[in-house]
Amino acid sequence: MWGFESPLPHQPHEAMDDRAARYDRQIRVPEIGAAGQTRLGEACAAVVGLGALGSVGADLLARAGVGRLILIDRDVVDWPNLQRQTLYVEADAEQARPKAEAARARLAAVNSEIRIDAHAADLEARNAARLLDAADLVLDGTDNFATRWLLNDWAVSRARAYVYAGVVATYGMVGAVLPEGPCLRCTWPEPPDAAGEPTCRSAGVLGPAVAVIAGLAAGEAIKILAGRSDAALRGFLHADLWTHEVRSIRAERDPACPCCTARRFDWLDGRRGARTAEAVCGGNAVQVPGSGSAPDLAAIATRLQGSVTAMRAEAGWLRFQARDLEVFLFADGRALVRGTEDPARAYALLAETVGS
Ligand SMILES: [Zn+2]
Repeated sequence: MWGFESPLPHQPHEAMDDRAARYDRQIRVPEIGAAGQTRLGEACAAVVGLGALGSVGADLLARAGVGRLILIDRDVVDWPNLQRQTLYVEADAEQARPKAEAARARLAAVNSEIRIDAHAADLEARNAARLLDAADLVLDGTDNFATRWLLNDWAVSRARAYVYAGVVATYGMVGAVLPEGPCLRCTWPEPPDAAGEPTCRSAGVLGPAVAVIAGLAAGEAIKILAGRSDAALRGFLHADLWTHEVRSIRAERDPACPCCTARRFDWLDGRRGARTAEAVCGGNAVQVPGSGSAPDLAAIATRLQGSVTAMRAEAGWLRFQARDLEVFLFADGRALVRGTEDPARAYALLAETVGS
C-alpha cells in the first residue's frame, strides 16, 4: 500500500542476526577487528564520576561492548546537570536519583549484554581496592584532583591503565597512564592547588567541550582494552573547542617520580587526600564524609519518623527534608546535604537530625 513491494514478514532468526551484528561497524574498523572486539567483551572498565565526562564515556564504553562496567558516583542528579550529563533525563533530576543508580538503569537499557555494577559511593583510599580492583582500566570522570591522584596511585600500584580526563569552560585535557609509565606524577608531582583552579561551577562548561574530551578519553580506553595500547597517547592532549587550539604535552618517565619510581602511593595509602566536608561541583550541595562505619539506615529512618518530611528509603540510601534542606544518607556513611554550599550549615542540620 506504500507503492513498493511489501517486504517479507520479519523472521525471528533475522532478529537474532540483527542482534549478533550490534558491533559490526566497530569490528569493521581494522584497528579493532574481531580480535579487538573479543578483548573488549572480556574487559572490565571502571568509570569514576558519572557527571558530564563520565556520562559520555560510560555510554560509549557500554555501546562498544566493554563486557563489564563498574560505575562509581557520589552525587544525585540535579537540574543544572541536564545540559551536559547525557545519561540523565528530567525525571532523574525531579526525583534527585543517585547518579550511579540512574546511570546503571540507562546503560542496562542501552546494552543488556554487559555486566554493570553501580556504587553510590565516594571513591577514596579506604574503598578503592574493594571498588576498583576488578577493573583492567579506570576512566576518569572525576571533578577533583585528589581523586585523580588516587586513581594514578591505584593504576601504578596494580599495573593497570588510567585514562585521565578533565574539562572546564571550553577546553580540557586527556591523557593515558599505562603500566610501563610515565604516570601522572612524572609530569605533575603534586596536584594543583584546587582553590586556584577553575571548576565547572566557577567557570561553567560547554556540553560540546565535554563531548570532545570524553570522546578522546573513551577512544583511549577502547584502544587499551582492545589490546592496542601501542596506539594510546604517550602523554597528554589539550584541546580548546573555542580557539581550535590543540596541543600535545609530552610526558616522560621521571626517574625521581615519587609514584612510579619510588612506589609511594600517598593518596591510595590515605596519607593524603583525606575527605573533608566540601561543596560538590555539580550543584548546590555539600558532601559530608562518613566516619568509616556503615550506619543503620532503617533505624535512623524509624527514629526520624515524624520529625522530618518527604522521607524515602531505598536500598543503599535514605532521603528526607528538614528545614529548607534535603539530606541523603548513603550506606557508606556519607551524607549529601542539598540546598546549601556551606559545610557548617550541613553539619548543623545533620547534628540536629541524625545526631552526628
Ligand atoms: Zn611517575
